[in-house]
Amino acid sequence: MPSRFLREDLASFSPYSVTYLPGIIKLDANENPFELPDEVKEEIKTEFMKLPLRIYPDPTALKLRVAIASFLNIENIDERHIAVGNGSDEILQYIFTAFLNRDNLVMYPNLSFEMFSVFSQVAGVRDVELELNESLELDLPSVVEALYTYRPKLLLLCRPNNPTGWSMPREDVLTILEQSKRVNTLVVIDEAYGEFMEESLAYLVKDYDNLIVLKTFSKAFSLAGLRLGYAISNEAIVKDLMSVKLPYNVNAFSQMVGRIILEYKDLILSKVRFIINERERVYSRLLSLDNVRVFPSNANFLFFYCEEKNLIDKLLSYGIKIRGFEPKHPLLENAYRVTIGKKEENDKFLSAMEEILS
Ligand code: PMP
Repeated sequence: MPSRFLREDLASFSPYSVTYLPGIIKLDANENPFELPDEVKEEIKTEFMKLPLRIYPDPTALKLRVAIASFLNIENIDERHIAVGNGSDEILQYIFTAFLNRDNLVMYPNLSFEMFSVFSQVAGVRDVELELNESLELDLPSVVEALYTYRPKLLLLCRPNNPTGWSMPREDVLTILEQSKRVNTLVVIDEAYGEFMEESLAYLVKDYDNLIVLKTFSKAFSLAGLRLGYAISNEAIVKDLMSVKLPYNVNAFSQMVGRIILEYKDLILSKVRFIINERERVYSRLLSLDNVRVFPSNANFLFFYCEEKNLIDKLLSYGIKIRGFEPKHPLLENAYRVTIGKKEENDKFLSAMEEILS
């Protein structure tokens, strides 16, 4: 029951909800199954002892932004093109704050990152959903048509898409960027899972002044607990984002850890290949199950349909938690998303599925 002070337009609002079950095989939130290597944690410990906590952190997170720009290694991209936030979630929120007012319209696919809709509702803006087709893909002509029909201020795309794992082909993204420019639409490409397709379109921010690419340390870098994400865009947009942010949004500890993580990038990202291989293995096994319809994925999770009743609870009885969805849309009926875990976790999930469906 909301308080009597809540905005009336939020009365029927459903927030992003997560349940926390300690000790379970957690394949529900697209986290990385690997903890940071001990040597990285040791270095963080040493640096932590030198960290002044008495004073506020650098509000511009300059050293971290320099480190991110150098890690990206894109010609003509430097710290002026990077904004950082408490997770990429926070940057998404700043995008809404900086660029949208209540008369504006935002557009995003009907099956995509749930926070797109949460932020739209909280910002009180109008939204239009783009329909995915039966293969859970976006048809380019329908996106272009919608751009001209609605002329949204903001178009949000997630590549690879959460929860489906599909990635829009690069050529389609280029067409959308061209057409968006004509109707003055700002495009956000959320690459939270980009490392698992080993491709990024961040370099396009040099060619398109209506593009923001979002990335995070939460997935490939195993740092969901730290809350650190960043945006890559042109200097003007980055300045706009920084002008609306909380002064000290990224704390001193996160700024320091982010820099250290990037020094160990090869060690940490070496696990990405393993996760990709596991994803393909789990995909093939699920494909062989009669009652499962699984989709190919470019991310660290797989999306599937299964008509088995109470599948979530049945998997929980095996100590495994995967993600189910409220059937707000026909495409979400009997739909599930499973995160790729360690080999033994994936094996337990697969055997549980085989037993439940036998
Ligand atoms: N974008 C997408 C598509 C996501 O799935 C997530 C995390 N679930 C985020 C952004 C947010 O990531 P974070 O705030 O942890 O950086």
